[in-house]
Amino acid sequence: MLVENLAWSNESRERDPDYFQKLAHAQKPTFFWIGCSDSRVPAETVTHASPGELFVLRNIANMIGTGTNSSSALEYAICVLEVKHVIVCGHYGCGGVRAALLAENASTPQLNARIEPLRRLAHFHRKDLETYPTLDARINRLVELNVHAQVDVIRQYPVLGRARRSPKLHGWVYGLRDGLLRELSSDP
Ligand SMILES: [Zn+2]
Repeated sequence: MLVENLAWSNESRERDPDYFQKLAHAQKPTFFWIGCSDSRVPAETVTHASPGELFVLRNIANMIGTGTNSSSALEYAICVLEVKHVIVCGHYGCGGVRAALLAENASTPQLNARIEPLRRLAHFHRKDLETYPTLDARINRLVELNVHAQVDVIRQYPVLGRARRSPKLHGWVYGLRDGLLRELSSDP
């Protein structure tokens, strides 16, 4: 990985000798991306974004919680960076969402606590989820419901009221099988 980094650094400077100097000066990203930690959904890669374009928070099942990890990132993105768009991006086949539909694994207490809101969400939407014939289909439906739920959580965050200009909120889902992003919801 270090060798790869050296190669990337050299290639970037060959294309633009001032590339890193300009990036080091300041960041002014337009987007705040809240995505899953899943190794197959790297935000910059799937959006063809470059360093400096995305402010990113990734965790298991792309959740905005009430802890300082989420709230500080949201506050910084909205009040300091003044991003124009906040994107919650889930992905089909999400392992965190899958875990929330299965029995608790006693060996992962931290993970169990982390996905508890997903279990509650699944319970709330149990009638809807029951209409899907397979576990995989229910997982993918809960992935979508979770994206909507996280967008709603952000919408109710007090920090939005303190923003000089409210960013637009977007709910997206990424397909592992085709590499495509789909829009589930978007502010006008
Ligand atoms: Zn995931």
